[in-house]
Order: sequence, then structure tokens, then C-alpha cells
Amino acid sequence: MANFPTHIVVGTIVAGTLATLTLAADVIAPENLVAVTLAGSLGSVLPDIDLKDSRPSRALFAGLAVFFSFALLFHFAPRLSIAEMWILWLGSLLFVRYGLHQTFHRLTNHRGVWHSWIAGLASAFATVLIFYYVFDRPDGVAWLAGGFLFIGFLTHLILDEIYSVDVLGNHIKKSFGTAFKPFDNRNKLGSALMGAAAVALLIVTPPMTTFFGGLTSRPMWTALNDRLLPKDIWFAGMVPHRAIAATPSAAGTPSATGSLPSATEAPATATQTPATP
Ligand SMILES: [Zn+2]
Repeated sequence: MANFPTHIVVGTIVAGTLATLTLAADVIAPENLVAVTLAGSLGSVLPDIDLKDSRPSRALFAGLAVFFSFALLFHFAPRLSIAEMWILWLGSLLFVRYGLHQTFHRLTNHRGVWHSWIAGLASAFATVLIFYYVFDRPDGVAWLAGGFLFIGFLTHLILDEIYSVDVLGNHIKKSFGTAFKPFDNRNKLGSALMGAAAVALLIVTPPMTTFFGGLTSRPMWTALNDRLLPKDIWFAGMVPHRAIAATPSAAGTPSATGSLPSATEAPATATQTPATP
């Protein structure tokens, strides 16, 4: 199993790379881009939510607790006194962080149904709903966030599966085949419930026509293909034109790699040292 930092790093790189594509395609406003990328990072740690007392699980429940307590607070704030708002906020925060966390772990096994494609789909549809109804984003952005979460989720499952092949020894660990699965064969009831939850969530999601239309737009893909590589010099767009013309060619200059000085350089530095007061 890959560890938490590995999952976060790989998930964020995958999500960031895709986010760059969507920016180039001009399908999303820059202010939505960060939130969508974060959905991808979240997806890349979500499958380990069932790992008892793990960092991802604690962090996820802490995050969920903050999210739900504020969502409730914002919703009811206009009708409550300050004391009531304190009680509501703290109560819902503690309920999710400790109450739900405990109950959740009593009901789940690690690498169980949460480590499957259907859980990824259910989480993706839930993300679409949250972006659409709670964050008030357009349906195209909501579906893009759901798509990013799902890709992050699958990245996690694939990474875990890769880690179950021992890189040095040639043998395959016992966990091979348990990470990347459509549903949990050992827990048929849990899988059926997760499937039902995914279908129920899908039914209430906003229409995906904008998202699908954008994804299948031929001019967009042509434009992306056109812009994939620079026309002449790399990063020329970042430097003013005159500066490029004036910059001498970097070829032939020794590269400073920060390694030990070579044999010819070493005596020179040694003779310089005594001169320093
Ligand atoms: Zn995992």
C-alpha cells in the first residue's frame, strides 16, 4: 500500500496536469480551477477513509466536520442567537468528527467496499451535488469536479495495486488484486448498498449536457492539439522579445549541478582560502 504523502503527491500531480488542460481549453474560470483540482487531491486519499485511526481517515473526518458545521451554521444563522449558533456549530462539528467517525469505523473494513470503483462513483456524484447545490457552481463545473474526484480516486486504487507488486523481489504481495476492483466480492450487501447509493445520487445530480458537450467538442480538442507544443522556442512567451534576442546561447557553458568541485577546480579554492581574513 502506498502511504498518505505518496497518494497526495501523485493525486495532486495528476489533478494539476488535467487542470492545466482545462485552463488551456478555456472551459473553466480560473477561480473554479483550484477547487476542482482540490477535488482531485481529495479523491486520491478518499479510498483510505476506512483505514482505522489513519491520518487520511482522521483528516477526512476533521475536514468533513468543519464543512458540515459551517454549512449548517450559514443556513440557520439568520434565525439564531449567538449562543445558539455556538452550540449548533460546535455540536455538529463534534458529532461528525467523533460520532460519525466512530460509527463509520464500526461498519467498515479496510480495503473493503470503499476501495472499489462504485464507491468512487458514489463519491463523485456526491461531489457534483455539493459543488452544484452547496457551492452554487454551474453544472459544468460541478461535473468537472466530480470527474476530477473520480480520477483521483482511481489513481489511488491503481497506485495501491502497483505497490502490491514487490519492486525488488519478484514475488507478488498477498494484497495484489484487492485494491483495484469494481466492487467488493467479500461484502455483497455493502457493495449492493454502495451501488444503490451511487444510483440514488446520480438521479438527483444536475444535467450533464454542458459537461458532456464540452468534453466532446471537436474545436476544443483541435485547439488543444494545436497548442500542445511551443511553435519555436520553449517558454518564449514568458520573456520579452528583445531579451531573447540578446541572450547568448547557453550551449557550452558548464552546468552548475551543485556536486563536488572537479579536480581542476579544487586547488583554486584551496589557495583562495588563506587570503580570507
Ligand atoms: Zn488505499
